[in-house]
Amino acid sequence: MSRFSNFLRDVAIPDLPHDVRVDYVVAAASQVQKQARMLFVALLITTPFAVMITPESAGPFVKWVLPVAMALYCLTGIVQLRKDNQFATKPWRAEKFIIESWLSSLIGALICTVWTIAAFLSVEGTERLHFPVMLVMGSLATAYCVASIRAAAAMHLLIDIVPISALLIFTGSVLDIAAAVSLGLAGLFQWRMINVHHNQVVELLLLKRKSQTLALTDPLTGLLNRRALLDFAEALGGDAPSRLLLIDIDRFKTINDTHGHDMGDTVLQEVARLIDSHAGNNVSSARLGGEEFALLGTREDLPAGKAAQLLAEIREAAMPHGGQVTVSIGIAEGTLEDDRAWRTLYRVADDALYEAKRQGRDRFVHAGDLETAADPRRRSEDASPETPRNVA
Ligand code: GH3
Ligand code: MG
Ligand code: MG
Repeated sequence: MSRFSNFLRDVAIPDLPHDVRVDYVVAAASQVQKQARMLFVALLITTPFAVMITPESAGPFVKWVLPVAMALYCLTGIVQLRKDNQFATKPWRAEKFIIESWLSSLIGALICTVWTIAAFLSVEGTERLHFPVMLVMGSLATAYCVASIRAAAAMHLLIDIVPISALLIFTGSVLDIAAAVSLGLAGLFQWRMINVHHNQVVELLLLKRKSQTLALTDPLTGLLNRRALLDFAEALGGDAPSRLLLIDIDRFKTINDTHGHDMGDTVLQEVARLIDSHAGNNVSSARLGGEEFALLGTREDLPAGKAAQLLAEIREAAMPHGGQVTVSIGIAEGTLEDDRAWRTLYRVADDALYEAKRQGRDRFVHAGDLETAADPRRRSEDASPETPRNVA
């Protein structure tokens, strides 16, 4: 992005808490797209009236060229807004749309203001007051429609209200001055309302983000919970093969029994930290419950060699209770095209984990190495991953 477009973006999109920036931009762009359509239609309907009420004395540019320019501007806008921008999945388009809408509304504001000032100056008497009133009513409506782009709303209010109000004040007529003051006040209150609304939206988005985080995070370790891992599995989906490492702490109950539950919690947190250090691009770590964890990722980003590495790291780590901790790991691979595929992958990894326990713990077993036909513990295809076997 060039310096200039960075500048435009910074003005059009205000400072927002990092966590909600994308949500805000997407919501703002969608909102403006909806409202702007109505606004353009309304403006288009008013342009013939603009031609009718502009006095001949204002000259052909003001009587004809500006209203025609406005009509063309509205028609272009309506056509542009028909495009489905898919903001939700492409937030960069939302950013671009916001900057474009901001610049486009600048054109609209300038046309309206020039037209109003010219019409105002070409009419004598109190009748001319109609023009500023029409302009400011339009400006308030526009600012409302583009309220989620505050830069655009502010610019409309400024360009539409300040010059015409100044002109009214300079006429020296008490009536004009009174009109200028009330138009200015209307603009100020509109601006205040836009800011209150903006703060409320940001607060709501922050709350939403917080509740989403709470719903998808394991409170003890900060890793994803089972629900969130399912979502991640869905997102991985597609044809790319995935790899699942099911990790269960060995003889964890003894740590609880010997050192107490609180110390057990601290050990869980330390093990979680070590597991999480292997999460990253296309790889997520999760606590599935109790002392069972998972690493899930694409086969490319989560090589099978991670299992041996993790075993060694955990075995050699200084644990909070002063003792050693080991884990057993079951590894399985498969594509995650649907929910059933995920269940199968989970079951196969769980079988491999069971085998690692059976062989003596502190080791990993690859599902591919299991002699599945001979395995008497094979469960039905539909066994639910929500109720995994408790490895004894
Ligand atoms: P194995 O090697 O066969 O996996 O033996 P294990 O002792 O690790 O497994 P077992 O299922 O017998 O015991 C798991 C223990 O984990 C029992 C339960 O009290 C403990 N546990 C489960 N959730 C938590 C927790 O959140 N905090 C603590 N401190 N302990 C927990
Ligand atoms: Mg265990
Ligand atoms: Mg367990």
